[in-house]
Amino acid sequence: MKTYKNIDLTIKSAFVQKYRDGYPLISKESISDLSKIKDEGVILNLLDSKGKFIAKGYHGIQNKGFGWVLSLDKNEQIDKDYFAKKIKIALTCRDDFFNSKHTTAFRVFNGEGDGIGGLSIDYFDGYYMLTWYSKGIYEFKDDILEALKLHTRYKGIYEKKRFDIKGMYLNNEDDFVCGEKADTPIIVKENDVNFAIYLDDGAMVGVFLDQRDVRYAIKEKYANGKTMLNTFSYTGAFSLFASLGGATKTTSVDLAKRSRPKTGEQFSINNIDPKTQDIIVEDVFNYFKYALRKKLLFNLVVLDPPSFARSKKHTFSVSKDYVKLLKEAIQITSKHGVIVASTNSANFDMKTFRGFITKAFKELDGKFEIKQSHTLPKDFKVNPKFKEGNYLKVIFIKKLF
Ligand code: SAH
Repeated sequence: MKTYKNIDLTIKSAFVQKYRDGYPLISKESISDLSKIKDEGVILNLLDSKGKFIAKGYHGIQNKGFGWVLSLDKNEQIDKDYFAKKIKIALTCRDDFFNSKHTTAFRVFNGEGDGIGGLSIDYFDGYYMLTWYSKGIYEFKDDILEALKLHTRYKGIYEKKRFDIKGMYLNNEDDFVCGEKADTPIIVKENDVNFAIYLDDGAMVGVFLDQRDVRYAIKEKYANGKTMLNTFSYTGAFSLFASLGGATKTTSVDLAKRSRPKTGEQFSINNIDPKTQDIIVEDVFNYFKYALRKKLLFNLVVLDPPSFARSKKHTFSVSKDYVKLLKEAIQITSKHGVIVASTNSANFDMKTFRGFITKAFKELDGKFEIKQSHTLPKDFKVNPKFKEGNYLKVIFIKKLF
C-alpha cells in the first residue's frame, strides 16, 4: 500500500481550539514552523505547543488556504482505505439520486462536506468527473481513483485540474482518465429535462448542478405566462426551465460567443425551437442600458453573475457591484414581477446578500417581498463547521411597485 510522507507541525495557540472543534481549512497563518513544509500532498500532523495531537490533514495550496484537515483521530491512517471509506460513504448518501429516473446528473462528492477538501466528484449518467483543486490533493489521485472504480459501476472517468491559486482550470490536452470515452455531448436529465454535457471541452461542462432546485422552482412556480430575462445566461439553463414552465418568451444574455450555439442546443434537445427565443451575445450592462432606453419590461429576471468578471468596458466584482446590478434589474422588471438574485460568492453570507437587496430597493424608493431563498442542494453536502462552504445564495424577490 502506498504510504504518504508525514510531518509534524506546531499550531499557534490562538488557532488550536478552532481545529479541535472541527474547522477543516488549514491556514498558513496558523502554523508556527512553516519552513518545515516543502511539498504539496504531504500529510500534516497538527500538534499544539506541548506536542499534543490536534488533527491530521494534507498540504495543498488553494485560494482558500494551505491544506485541509482529514481526520481528528490520531490513529486513523491516511491511505487507500481512508479514501475508499470516504468515497463509499459519500456514494451511499446519494442513493436517492442514483435511484432516480428523473435526474441523472448530480454531485457525489463535495470536498470538505464529504470529508476531503479540495476534491469534488460529479456524476453524469454513468460518467464521473473529478475536479482536483490543488497539486496536493492530486498526489492522492491513484488511491482516490482506485476507490472510485471499486465502488461504482462507471462508464468512464474524467478529470479537471484547477491547480493555480485562483482555482483556474489548467488546459490539458485531454480530461479523459479511463473507461469508455463519452459522446460529445452526452445527454443527461435533470427533473426530466435534457441537458447536453461536454465532459472534455474546457473548464465548464454545460451546466451548474448546484442550481437544480432553483431551476425547478422557476419552472414549477414562476414562469407560466411570463416574459423572462436571463442575464449571465451561459448555456441558458434557467431560460430552458422557464420556457418549459410556460414562459411566453425568454431572452438570454451572455458575453461569450459560445453561449448562442450552446443555448440553442439546450432548447433543441428539449424540442423547443431556439428561433422562438432570444439569445443575445452582449455585455449585460450594455443590454440593461438598451432595455431601459427601449422601455422593455420583463416579468421574471434572473441575475447570476460570476463572482468576478472582466469585460472590455467593465470590471465586475460581486461584493462591490451587486447593488448596482440589482438596481438595473429592478428598473426593467414589471410591477409585481420577480427577480431571481443569485451569487456563488463565498466572500459574504446570506445576511449581507439580503442587505444588498434592501439597499438597492431603498435607493430606488421601492418595496419588495422575499418569496423564497435557496442555498446549496442536498447533494452538495456542507460541513457544518465550515459555513463558508455553503457559498450559493439565491433569493426570489417580488417587486411591489
Ligand atoms: N447562469 C448560468 C451560469 C453563469 S456563469 C447558468 O445557470 O448556467 C457566468 C457567465 O457570465 C459566463 O457564461 C460568462 O460568459 C458570463 N459573463 C461574464 N461577464 C459578463 C458580462 N459582463 N456580460 C454578460 N455575460 C457575462
